[in-house]
Amino acid sequence: FVVPDFLGFTKDIEEIYWKCKSNTDGKVASYIPQLARVNPDYWGVAVCTVDGQRFSIGDVHVPFTLQSCSKPLTYAVALEKLTQKVVHQYVGQEPSGRNFNELVLDHNKQPHNPMINAGAILVCSLLKTLVKPEITLAEKFDYTQNWFQKMAGGENFGFNNSVFLSEREAADRNYALGFYMREHKVFPEKTNLRECLDFYFQICSMETCADSMSVVAATLANGGICPITDEKVFRPEVVRDVLSLMHSCGMYDYSGQFAFKVGLPAKSGVCGGILLVVPNVAGIFTWSPPLDPCGNSVRGVQFCEELLQVFNFHRYDNL
Ligand code: GLN
Repeated sequence: FVVPDFLGFTKDIEEIYWKCKSNTDGKVASYIPQLARVNPDYWGVAVCTVDGQRFSIGDVHVPFTLQSCSKPLTYAVALEKLTQKVVHQYVGQEPSGRNFNELVLDHNKQPHNPMINAGAILVCSLLKTLVKPEITLAEKFDYTQNWFQKMAGGENFGFNNSVFLSEREAADRNYALGFYMREHKVFPEKTNLRECLDFYFQICSMETCADSMSVVAATLANGGICPITDEKVFRPEVVRDVLSLMHSCGMYDYSGQFAFKVGLPAKSGVCGGILLVVPNVAGIFTWSPPLDPCGNSVRGVQFCEELLQVFNFHRYDNL
């Protein structure tokens, strides 16, 4: 076993879980009513090791929409199908140092990276126009959902239609980002902006739970092989690229501090999820809706920071 004393490990996780539970800081996302209504008390942590040992505590089976936690997943599919060379002709690798939906592009007038809205919308346009360009939007949705399910070891991903409709209704900024990028000819030819944004909102509105997302994190921790099914989902080079950008850009405008303190690749979303990868050890997913001013889950960030007080998982702990 990768974690020989798994019971001892889960005891420590449990202790940190209870410690974070009493933290009631932060506010749930309020830009759409469906997110504003979510119970702020939800708190779940799920762990899946690279050899398939699982543990979870709290609200790990309650469904939530993926939101920005989908960004590393779509980026991974784009890399797998199109290669790094092609994908990075369109999008950079630099932290933006700004809000996730800031109306800003880099010096090349391209999105800074695939972990913020502009970059993720661009990645959606690549999936839409360059990967299986002949299939319809409906089939593209199924195709993407199948990929996500493969990463989760076959566990189910649903779709929340009211979140999707609200996302599309409240999307002025994402439309503005789309038009701004189109003005600078960032998109591949043949991009239909409306369809591309719909596809982006659909992916944000895919629904799953913390337990399934811990398997997704574990597939990344395991170099692209799902520990539950042993299926090779991604090439190791793909996972290396995804983890590199999660490490430098995954936690919004807290990414630098998170990389410093926690030293692990992670990706958060306005749903209150954090996808945390401990390379070669385990995938962890934390879910708690109240967010800090950067947009990261308050309990989730605390959990990651407390975890690092107990375990030497930091990238530079082994010096
Ligand atoms: N649907 C959200 C948006 O595009 C996702 C952003 C996020 O999770 N930070 O604004």
